[in-house]
Amino acid sequence: LPEYAFIGRSNVGKSSLINMLCNRKDLAMTSSRPGKTLLINHFLINKNWHLVDLPGYGYATAGKKMRDQLQDIIESYILNREQLTCLFLLIDCRHEPQKIDLEFMEWLGENGVPFSIVFTKLDKLTHAKGKSNVQAYKDKLSEQWEELPPIFLTSSEKRTGRDEILGYIEGINKTL
Ligand code: GDP
Repeated sequence: LPEYAFIGRSNVGKSSLINMLCNRKDLAMTSSRPGKTLLINHFLINKNWHLVDLPGYGYATAGKKMRDQLQDIIESYILNREQLTCLFLLIDCRHEPQKIDLEFMEWLGENGVPFSIVFTKLDKLTHAKGKSNVQAYKDKLSEQWEELPPIFLTSSEKRTGRDEILGYIEGINKTL
């Protein structure tokens, strides 16, 4: 079955987004403690695809050795997993473009990994500020790529962006 993986820095709102997409409050554990998801978790959706919860990256608290091990697990999944159809990179829309996220996208591009960007926590922002961060990311990416990846604006709190992401995934599934 095709797999759609979700990744982002810890505390970006990944668990909340996965819960929203899966329509279940308790499916992926949410935590105020960053970096609690340590292994790769699969959730079967609609009996025809897997949602894959990848560990967060950019831990401040985990030791360097732990970081490297996690890095290896994430990298090898992303580069070698044949079923991986699209990677969703989560970005907190309150933050201006971050080096770690931009470098990660560059690495995805270099390795030909299809990805989309999901901006999270839209409800926490004034419209104008959210738009300007999103635009700043678009501008940065335009410097590198002729074509921008698909971009989704979401709020797990308000259930914004759910239909768009699920529709996008089902659309791809139909072509497989
Ligand atoms: P993870 O570490 O990336 O899995 O992040 P979580 O899903 O555990 O969320 C981290 C914190 O952000 C929690 O306190 C959530 O309640 C909060 N959060 C996540 N998504 C949203 C959102 O869409 N809106 C708001 N207001 N808060 C959110």
